[in-house]
Amino acid sequence: MLSKNEILSLLKTKEIPKDLLEEAYKVRKYYSGRYVFFRALIEISNICQKACFYCGVNRENKNLKRYYINLETLKKIFEKVKNLKYTSVAIQSGEIISKKHFEFLKKIVTLAKSKYNFEITLSLGELPKKILKDLFSLGARRYLLRFEVATPKRYYLYHYKDNLHSYENRIKTLYTLKEIGYQVGTGFLVGLPFDNPLNLYKDIRLIQKLKPDMIGIGPYIPQKYTKLFNLLEKGVKILNEKDRFFLNIKLIAIFRILLKTPNIVASTALITLGTKFFPLEEVLNFAFKAGANVIMPVFTPSKEKKLYALYENKYFSEHEKFYDGTLKASFIPVLERYGNPISYYIRNFK
Ligand code: SF4
Repeated sequence: MLSKNEILSLLKTKEIPKDLLEEAYKVRKYYSGRYVFFRALIEISNICQKACFYCGVNRENKNLKRYYINLETLKKIFEKVKNLKYTSVAIQSGEIISKKHFEFLKKIVTLAKSKYNFEITLSLGELPKKILKDLFSLGARRYLLRFEVATPKRYYLYHYKDNLHSYENRIKTLYTLKEIGYQVGTGFLVGLPFDNPLNLYKDIRLIQKLKPDMIGIGPYIPQKYTKLFNLLEKGVKILNEKDRFFLNIKLIAIFRILLKTPNIVASTALITLGTKFFPLEEVLNFAFKAGANVIMPVFTPSKEKKLYALYENKYFSEHEKFYDGTLKASFIPVLERYGNPISYYIRNFK
């Protein structure tokens, strides 16, 4: 177990101590072996009602063409991933609050469950409790909602303070998801402007408090049409890309040691930064050895994939590349099992 002082001193230095990675790898091997669970990620829409200051999909970005995938296209994607032997899909979109959207989501979950028996992860923002319950009762079992920053004071550095951007509601939604019965995934952005080790420590503490089934953290990557990009243009400093990459790897190792059993994602943002400096298999090897055990190749159609522009130069995380990269990194890709986290089995089969 790592103490507060040990974590803070790890966060203050740029190096990743060899014994931290060795310990994380030991825990990873004990709980997850060398397995890496694959989830097919489908980004169904880049429409969003929010205006997060770090995100290129923010509603104020008028330079972005918006899309909404129809059911026919989705059926074709489901067929494709089924043929590739995927059993787990993740459906993601910006935060859309409308009856029409909710009805569409219900159709998607019904189709994914009844026809394909996929295990379904949703990542659709802070939806009302009623629709979250409906989607759960139709068969969705996992929900990813990153809190992004752990304290209200910092939350409003990166978000407006209004009805649509409420720290309280974000945290409340995470507890609502747990109460409904979802396997909850959460996480935060690594290396935002104004970040420091103490802030990161608070992010870690909140994860420990929430005890999620899945952790998804990703390095901050600027996007041109965002409020934070304007600040960077004015001279606000952030860690360089390589340091943000290694800080993210270090945090994965810290989480693997602290929490042991949740699934941890090797995020596309992490891979985007890492592959600027290293071949893909090396990036995956860093992430998996540190403790990541989930990866999410993107199956959004290529035209729309380019429009899901959360940040600049997003890595095109294709199935074949990730599958081969995982093997070359000496880990084992797993598609035909749902890949529930150990924390889920411990909770349900005590
Ligand atoms: S981070 Fe999510 S909620 Fe915020 S603007 Fe981007 S897509 Fe919308």
